[in-house]
Amino acid sequence: MNPTSDLFRKFGLGEDILAALARKGFEEPSPIQEKTIPMLLEGKTDLIAQAQTGTGKTAAFGLPLIELLKPRAGHVQALVLTPTRELAIQVAEEINSLKGDRKLEIVPIYGGQAFSEQLRRLKRGVDIVVGTPGRVIDHINRKTLKVGGISHMILDEADEMLNMGFIEDVETILEATPQEKRVLMFSATMPDRIRNLAERFLRDYKLITVAKENPTVALTDQIYFEVAERDKFEALCRIIDMEPDFYGLIFMRTRVETETMGNRLVSRGYSASFLHGDISQAQRLNILESFRRKRINILAATDVAARGLDIQDLTHVINFALPHDPESYVHRIGRTGRAGKGGTAITFVTPSEYRKIGFIERVARTEIRREKLPSVQDIIELKTRRIQDGIEEIIGKEDYIKYIPLADKLLGETDPLTILASMLKLSFQDELDESNYNEIRKPAPENHGKARLFIAKGKVDGMTLKGILDLIRSKVKIDSRQIRDIQIYERFSFVNVPLAEAEQILTTFRKTQRKGKPPLVVKAKPARKK
Ligand code: ADP
Ligand code: MG
Repeated sequence: MNPTSDLFRKFGLGEDILAALARKGFEEPSPIQEKTIPMLLEGKTDLIAQAQTGTGKTAAFGLPLIELLKPRAGHVQALVLTPTRELAIQVAEEINSLKGDRKLEIVPIYGGQAFSEQLRRLKRGVDIVVGTPGRVIDHINRKTLKVGGISHMILDEADEMLNMGFIEDVETILEATPQEKRVLMFSATMPDRIRNLAERFLRDYKLITVAKENPTVALTDQIYFEVAERDKFEALCRIIDMEPDFYGLIFMRTRVETETMGNRLVSRGYSASFLHGDISQAQRLNILESFRRKRINILAATDVAARGLDIQDLTHVINFALPHDPESYVHRIGRTGRAGKGGTAITFVTPSEYRKIGFIERVARTEIRREKLPSVQDIIELKTRRIQDGIEEIIGKEDYIKYIPLADKLLGETDPLTILASMLKLSFQDELDESNYNEIRKPAPENHGKARLFIAKGKVDGMTLKGILDLIRSKVKIDSRQIRDIQIYERFSFVNVPLAEAEQILTTFRKTQRKGKPPLVVKAKPARKK
């Protein structure tokens, strides 16, 4: 007997389902499954359940459904609503993979797919329909989907359903279904609006939540890099190149950015694509399939396009731009390290956004480590080591026999060192070419939100530390502790002040500047690189 499935057996699930779980490699119930499965199997009440993305909510309702529904009942017994087409497909697939030997038909229906195909499947007799609200309403109106006999209705990703404005649709659907049914709501977050929704739609219901601190996030190595906006792309390429099996999502803020990113990556030679809300359904499925099969290993996406996608084993999630709020940070990075596997989450921050990282850390109760971007030399070194490893592996496996005659011929003509070096150039010149990389300027780490000012007075003018402080404070109200890094030279001086104050100082000095004279204080030119 499989000890693995014992942890699921206690729920009273059938042997066929336990076998399906074992095949899927589920070793133990996730916390949300632990809490909801017994409740759904034994109780009768409605339910609202909240747990972070990637915590197995689908199986949390899917397993009880499979166990509770009657095979070959001859009518639709359960209706699952999801906010997007991808989720409809994914949820249907997940439930299908869990059903063991049960004679249950599970069908996704969603906008964008031909009605005829869906009609054909609906006609064959369906037990569980997983659909997007719009298309479900269409089918109900056309009487091609009869929901008069359903015993379970599930709102999956309820928060997203709210965000996407599906509430009226959901209400319409609820009204078309029998009074006597269970309604289950699953959601990644629990804003007040979700509770209000539950108050309206659910009867006597139980509330189940799983605390935020989730091993998914804990397992994810979280790093941030400080990079100027213009250097972000270069930084991204370096990060991708450091990881031999890079498989990641790049989160962008807008559709346009997503598209630009996908194209830029492709022109730089990566297998990449992009995903956003304007892409046709056929194309989306295509892209997702390629990504799942790792024919492309980099996908630039918006939050909405990526939400709820179940893609396994991502090595990286990259926040090319900071997410809007800590919650979406947690959601995004939840895409790596799903179901117990670790991953890396990388966030780019521009020097002026630096403080927001602290905010995310506090709210999401997580730790994000600052690191230095790899230098071009680091990358070349690493690639060189990989080439060496590759060669050693071939030698180890004696995987070179076919090439011995050619090697022999070459050796007859030239010395081995020359041949080998030429071979390396032939194979790797592109990969080891430093000029593939562009320079990234170091953002001055001490100058977070600070401006360096040049003051046209120095020691010869009798400038002292106190003199400088007084000079500045005569024009603007500023705490002297905020005036930092004062340097006094013969004929001029420098100070650092916070950006807002710097603007103020510059304007007041400009105002009091005498006609025809150079201004006393100006913004310092960036120091020349040494
Ligand atoms: P959610 O709906 O909470 O975002 P999903 O239901 O999409 O999460 O599940 C995320 C992934 O975790 C899926 O690939 C699923 O097969 C897997 N998974 C779910 N439950 C378990 C479990 N008990 N053990 C291992 N993997 C699981
Ligand atoms: Mg889900």
